[in-house]
Amino acid sequence: MAQQLRRSSLLLDQVLTCCSGQSSIDVMTTSFFVLGDQLSVDVEPWPTLGLDTVIVMIESESLISQPRHLTRVALYLSAMRNFAEALREKNFVVDYRRAANFTQGLAEHQAQFRPTQIFMNAPRGRHARSLFSRLGVELLPDPFFLTDVESIRSRSKQPRTMEHFYRQQRQRLNVLMDGTEPVGGQWNYDAENREPLPRDGGEWPEPWSAALTADEVDLVATLEPSHPGANALYFWPRTRVQAIDQLRDAVTRIIPHFGPHEDAASLENWHLAHSRLSAALNLGLLHPAEVIEAVSRQFALGEIPLASAEGFLRQIIGWREWVYVLHHLRTREYSQLNHLGANNELPTSWQQMGHHEMRCLDGVVRHLNDYSWTHHIERLMVLANAATLAGVSPQAFTKWMIGAFVDGAEWVMEANVIGMGTFADGGATGTKPYIAGGNYLNKMTNFCKGCAFSPTIRTGETACPLTTLYWDFLIRNEAPLSRINRIAPQRKAALARPDRMEISAHAPHATRIILGATRVTVESSSPS
Ligand SMILES: Cc1cc2nc3c(=O)[nH]c(=O)nc-3n(C[C@H](O)[C@H](O)[C@H](O)COP(=O)(O)OP(=O)(O)OC[C@H]3O[C@@H](n4cnc5c(N)ncnc54)[C@H](O)[C@@H]3O)c2cc1C
Repeated sequence: MAQQLRRSSLLLDQVLTCCSGQSSIDVMTTSFFVLGDQLSVDVEPWPTLGLDTVIVMIESESLISQPRHLTRVALYLSAMRNFAEALREKNFVVDYRRAANFTQGLAEHQAQFRPTQIFMNAPRGRHARSLFSRLGVELLPDPFFLTDVESIRSRSKQPRTMEHFYRQQRQRLNVLMDGTEPVGGQWNYDAENREPLPRDGGEWPEPWSAALTADEVDLVATLEPSHPGANALYFWPRTRVQAIDQLRDAVTRIIPHFGPHEDAASLENWHLAHSRLSAALNLGLLHPAEVIEAVSRQFALGEIPLASAEGFLRQIIGWREWVYVLHHLRTREYSQLNHLGANNELPTSWQQMGHHEMRCLDGVVRHLNDYSWTHHIERLMVLANAATLAGVSPQAFTKWMIGAFVDGAEWVMEANVIGMGTFADGGATGTKPYIAGGNYLNKMTNFCKGCAFSPTIRTGETACPLTTLYWDFLIRNEAPLSRINRIAPQRKAALARPDRMEISAHAPHATRIILGATRVTVESSSPS
């Protein structure tokens, strides 16, 4: 250790000399490159890194200058800067720089430090993996997940559905297992987790938050003029200590209430009993193993009911790991799929994060504007549902979501948006399109109360556009949906509707209401 410290201070002297005017360091060194979503020293290879390894971190102007949500940009920058500071406190030499882009930043680092080798943990996204491989960076296995993609790729029989994968994960990771059987005798407690929003709106635990530092206040002020959205940075952890505190808070106050109202949504309450751990997990500030351990421990103590523990752990070891595996089993072509030929632009109010005349879209986009996050049901049954029904381009929708959400990223959005959310992959991820008319939202949420459109009316000025387009979607997509058994009853019911001609005739108007535009390119063929 003493030797390592001596070497580090020698290197530090040279760095300081170098940065105060001289050209480069003349010492053989290796560099370890850390991305903004790899912010943990509690994973490999950190325990084996000597203090003579220079740590490189780059703020990419090409990313920062994109019109992404203020809170999202501030969160990444603040978490990265805090992480660099924590490394310096551990006596690492950190080359923290701002550059036009990653390519430029790494070139500048190489020119200054002349490392013999640069290595990094493999980025989570396919795009970044290919970029850094091309730049000659050596990629180590990604330590931020519990599943080895290669071991799944090499299997002769790969899991076909998330449920299948999830059950294998439960057994392999020994999560909520009683020998070879699931604790409680059931794999899944979904049926207990479909309660609508309570009639009085319910009572929900206050969300975790941590006050901003003076540096963070300054950071937000610098970003505010060029980034849309409100400042909600204090609702998201920016350091490892804060992330652990948020996890402790989630397992004691929030996850016990997670299960029953998982599928509900409220205009007045943006978080309900959702953990909001996705940002910390996706930044690398929390590891999924820690989350599993904390929840399992509280369950064993009787503090979290089984249905809530199971429902929550399924998200972590099932969905989260599954979409990560799928991203790496698939190729770039997958991200361009558009099975239903949806080419409309994003609704204007989403682009501007502004007002919408439908209360559901207005409320959810307001939540997004205010917090840079919405919970799962608002993403799936409001945003993705409206985008699918109104024929919005899945690629435009994905791009917007990546920039708008604090937890947005290429690897996680792909299966969620192209697959589950919009059915653009024709059923390779989900077994049916997740679509719903206004009646479903009226049952599960309080969005429809006071809305100018009625969820029970299918055509005419007061018809809920989601209701019209739900039926129209089933009629217009008869051919692409013909082999999807799970939606066959709804498809048959749509085709048998006596008012199907009127529905199809009204559909372009309903689409225009969702898009907030007059230009409509979605085809609405009349049934024969
Ligand atoms: C259209 C659409 C887009 C989405 N985009 C993202 C995204 O960009 N980033 C993201 O992390 N999640 C995304 N999700 C998944 C999910 O909605 C969020 O992970 C969740 O809402 C985050 O809130 P939470 O932490 O309170 O989650 P909880 O409901 O408390 O779940 C616990 C954790 O499980 C994980 N998880 C749950 N569901 C999923 C899922 N379907 N895919 C991956 N991880 C999951 C998350 O890490 C989450 O923190 C998307 C879902 C849909 C339908």
